[in-house]
Amino acid sequence: MFRFGKRKAPSSSKLASSLHDEQTKNSIILNSIEDGVVLIDDQGIIQLFNPGAAAITGWKRDDAEGLDQKSVFTFVDSKGQPVPEESSPFQRALKGGQNMRDNNANILTKSNTPIATSFSVSPILDNSKQVTGLVGVFRDVSEERKEENQRAEFISTASHEMRTPVAAIEGYLSLALNDRVSTIDSRARDYLEKAHASTKHLGELFQDLLTSAKAEDGRLTNHPEVVEVGALMQQLTSDLHFQAQKKNLALEFIIGNSNVIDATTTANANDKVVRPLYYVLADPDRLREVITDLFDNACKYTDAGKITLGLTGNDTVTQLYVRDTGHGIPQEDIGHLFQKFYRVDNSATRTIGGTGLGLFICRKIVELYHGRIWVESVLDKGSTFYINLPRLTTQQAEAMIAKQQGGQVSDTPEPDTLVTPTSPAASSTTNTTVPPGGAA
Ligand code: ADP
Repeated sequence: MFRFGKRKAPSSSKLASSLHDEQTKNSIILNSIEDGVVLIDDQGIIQLFNPGAAAITGWKRDDAEGLDQKSVFTFVDSKGQPVPEESSPFQRALKGGQNMRDNNANILTKSNTPIATSFSVSPILDNSKQVTGLVGVFRDVSEERKEENQRAEFISTASHEMRTPVAAIEGYLSLALNDRVSTIDSRARDYLEKAHASTKHLGELFQDLLTSAKAEDGRLTNHPEVVEVGALMQQLTSDLHFQAQKKNLALEFIIGNSNVIDATTTANANDKVVRPLYYVLADPDRLREVITDLFDNACKYTDAGKITLGLTGNDTVTQLYVRDTGHGIPQEDIGHLFQKFYRVDNSATRTIGGTGLGLFICRKIVELYHGRIWVESVLDKGSTFYINLPRLTTQQAEAMIAKQQGGQVSDTPEPDTLVTPTSPAASSTTNTTVPPGGAA
């Protein structure tokens, strides 16, 4: 049995003597771990391929080392179709120059069998912050994924079946509460109102369960298109301001660091808006769903003050955020917040209804677009939920729009083309807050 304690291990141990030099130590670790580890140089050539990587991919170490990573790693979608080169975790880490995690990266093994993997890629930077290589660590998560799918399938069927009778009960309770069709005394009304509220909550829970099950097994309807997030958020802000008003909360929309747009301003095609354009590839309905969910939470967990919807970014990242001046979230809960059914257990949240599924669904949707969602919060001061999505350059966006409309696309856009700033405000957007552990 291993014992860990303050006592130093006897230096005569077999392990200690074999750990004399750094290299031996490193190769013992690399050869012993089950995770795949791959080291790629700045030309994309595999320099190191550990036995874990060989076991997962079916490639022999000697065959893989010296090859271009593209020959060994083919990333595919859930239907087994190759994903665009720029969406691979290696390319994204290379482009962003930051750590990159992808828990849904499917790869083809040497015998062309798709397997579900979880990938983490870290760029190696030199003194001048240039990327000189990449280290990828990955594991086979096929078994976990299979079990998750079975669970999701069960939840999905059960909630689908239960939604129908719950909708019927809610309908009949509404009729019983309707003066024009029923006559009830005040005590019965009180009971029925309570039953109606609980049934509504149950209906929402089933709907959330269904959505989260679909999000897990990839059945969420998703029609990605080029979206200019500024216009979408401006429209949303004006749609949501009544809801904020009901709670006496102010609502504002900020683009860049200072362009405050009043919530009552409606997006108008005639407006000469001079601001940077933030394009992303996503389903606008899903994006609206996520922002609305974060906004609903901000309203729910804020008693007084202001809600801010914000949009900023840099060359590669579009960052949106929802900030409130509400209850805040205890630090110890922050790491669990995006898990299924997680709710902060304190007096403030106990009295406010909820399913604990909203943020989980938000995370799943954001991950669908290779994004990242996280929160920063100070107790009793407020919270800010951030979302980073890969930003499309104006050139890329225009080319994709032309393609969508069946027009001529003369050039395939360069993935690293810089966004042309459309206004002086664009320069202020480079101060993007990037999450610990990297951007989208
Ligand atoms: P719920 O339906 O419970 O609101 P969510 O998944 O949307 O579920 O949120 C999970 C938990 O995160 C909530 O129960 C609440 O404790 C906390 N939370 C979410 N948003 C906020 C916020 N803006 N301010 C404070 N707490 C929040």
